[in-house]
Amino acid sequence: MTHAFPHTEADYNTLTPAAQNDFNQLMEQADTAGPADYPALMTAIAILVGLPTGDIRRCACSCYCPVIFDANDEDAHVIKHGEGYNLGEHQCPTCADHHRETA
Ligand SMILES: [Zn+2]
Ligand SMILES: [Zn+2]
Repeated sequence: MTHAFPHTEADYNTLTPAAQNDFNQLMEQADTAGPADYPALMTAIAILVGLPTGDIRRCACSCYCPVIFDANDEDAHVIKHGEGYNLGEHQCPTCADHHRETA
């Protein structure tokens, strides 16, 4: 299966080092943000990577997948729910399809 990135996915490896740094910091903040701050952080991340606003995640797959996607995608797979945190760990639809992981 060839996988051209549709508009619902971005590639972490194509971000500039500065953008990768911003992405990591914003994700860290989003992980512990309260409900009042979380949406603004998600919007900032979405703009940074060029995706529509949503629950943006980077694939947490052990294959070091660079895909950034919306965790609400029906094909996304939850490896682990964030306990006490917002983000948890998710696999992108492609990884969930090819090598599904469970925590
Ligand atoms: Zn993936
Ligand atoms: Zn994978």
